[in-house]
Amino acid sequence: MAITDNLDRVEHRIAEACKRSGRAREDVQVIAVTKYASLQTAEQLLQHGVQHIGESRWPDAEQKRTTIGDRAVWHFIGHLQTNKVRHVIDRFTYFHSLDRLSLAKELEKRAKSLDIEVKCFLQVNVSGEKSKHGCSPEDLFTFAEQVSQRDHLRIVGLMTMAPYEAKEQEIRQQFRTLRELKDELNKRAIFTYELEHLSMGMSNDFEIAVEEGATWIRLGSILVQS
Ligand SMILES: *Cc1c(COP(=O)(O)O)cnc(C)c1O
Repeated sequence: MAITDNLDRVEHRIAEACKRSGRAREDVQVIAVTKYASLQTAEQLLQHGVQHIGESRWPDAEQKRTTIGDRAVWHFIGHLQTNKVRHVIDRFTYFHSLDRLSLAKELEKRAKSLDIEVKCFLQVNVSGEKSKHGCSPEDLFTFAEQVSQRDHLRIVGLMTMAPYEAKEQEIRQQFRTLRELKDELNKRAIFTYELEHLSMGMSNDFEIAVEEGATWIRLGSILVQS
């Protein structure tokens, strides 16, 4: 299967999910996750219209990041170790895995010294699986308040990962919970601005995520499989 076929099929499925849920197609953006893909595959994705690339590890992503440069918008989607922040801070536009105060402090410190603002998603462990990173739903409001005081962090929304093997109803409920948490943060006006985005949905559950309000879906294997 060529990359173009993968892209066409995914596009069709996103469009159908939008139609089913009465959403506008342009409200859902795709991040092509290239962590298992070669530079050549990433280049092919870009040639066929992909604009956003997601990577989850540093320095594994370095070669692609350096070669592709600003021909893509870069998203750091994986767990971020505090001691890696200085390497990635000005190489990625979005950070999807802000899940603890120590990381917020380090991002703030580095962003301040570079005089930049970094766009972050707060990662929430909605499923409660021990293997997953993310702040618990119970701790989210306190964490959000702490983060809201950092002038160089712009929180654009919430991110979650559903369990890899779960029933559709369970996955749907978790995506719905993430949306409700975002609405609640906005209602309580913890930030001086509105959180707009939900980063949720991967190759095996992106249609459910779109139906539940995802504005960013993160697709790896389904785009690069042959
Ligand atoms: C790898 C990864 C993805 C993409 O996973 P696929 O199942 O291959 O689509 C999405 N989000 C995160 C955080 C990842 O680590």
